[in-house]
Amino acid sequence: MTIPDRPLLSVVVPVYNEEAVLHEFYKRLHAVLKELRGLSGTEIIFVDDGSHDGSAKILSELVQWDKSVKVLQFSRNFGHQIALTAGLDHAKGDAVVVIDADLQDPPETIPRLLNKWRDGYEVVYGVRESRETDTWFKRTTARLFYALMRKIGNLDLPMDAGDFRLLDRKVVEVFRSLGERHRFVRGLTLWVGFRQTGVLYPRTERFAGSTKYPFGKMLKLAWDGVTSFSFAPLRVAIYLGLIVSSLSFLLGLFVIIGRFFLNQTELLGFPTHGWGSLMVAVLFLAGVQLIVLGMMGEYLGRTYEEVKRRPLYILREKIGFDD
Ligand code: UDP
Ligand code: MG
Repeated sequence: MTIPDRPLLSVVVPVYNEEAVLHEFYKRLHAVLKELRGLSGTEIIFVDDGSHDGSAKILSELVQWDKSVKVLQFSRNFGHQIALTAGLDHAKGDAVVVIDADLQDPPETIPRLLNKWRDGYEVVYGVRESRETDTWFKRTTARLFYALMRKIGNLDLPMDAGDFRLLDRKVVEVFRSLGERHRFVRGLTLWVGFRQTGVLYPRTERFAGSTKYPFGKMLKLAWDGVTSFSFAPLRVAIYLGLIVSSLSFLLGLFVIIGRFFLNQTELLGFPTHGWGSLMVAVLFLAGVQLIVLGMMGEYLGRTYEEVKRRPLYILREKIGFDD
């Protein structure tokens, strides 16, 4: 493992309508960075993910004050995971820290991430000491999601770790070579391998403003996680098909025996003719077929989007970069 004598540290910060927190965030991050010793320098890359509040203006002021601050401005909102990707694409550091702007990931934890990196770890992720600041609903759905990913995605995501993490340059390079569009960043940085470890940190309340991850976006992230690491939903078709056809085979036997051998209109309380049972069977099968078709459509749609090979994001402006 080769860490240069005086490494460069990059900090990547996705920003979406965060005007209420940016000043305070910069103040706290700056205070932490200026105490760090043994670095050749630091850069802070804010990725403005199509904010339509005052964030862009605040960021352009920060670039004026501090020449280590750089801004990537998206042409519209592309989403958190894509913002992280853009930041990693443009970061020059030997180590890159990814951190939220809302101060839920305390910048004061960064020196501890760096210490682990110097110990030889190539991915150092933050693990929340407690999730008390999250609602019961979010905690429970998160737990279910992680269990699901472990089971069907073969991906043992560390519990209670978000995207707050440090990546070694080697990991960043591998990550950049992954071209997929629906990205689940924390899954991908685990999937790449390398030496990984976690650091406990206190997850605090959002400093100001409201979450930019409403339930719908959260669900989309979870679904991206599942579909990019697992074919299991496609396999549901086979299992459902097997179950349904075995059941209907048994039912068929039942009907034949009752109707033709015993000449009963009813066997064990079950009608051997009539449209009631028929309707149930038809509707049930139609439902199963639609569900399965929908799942196949999801994967097909994703494949189509990948094949189009559109750029992952579009930059309106790059501010503060040398080139
Ligand atoms: N974010 C972003 N694009 C989006 C949504 C969120 O860049 O479309 C940023 C946001 O500004 C913040 C980080 O991603 O820095 C995490 O979002 P948030 O704090 O709202 O999520 P939560 O902590 O509630 O899960
Ligand atoms: Mg947050």
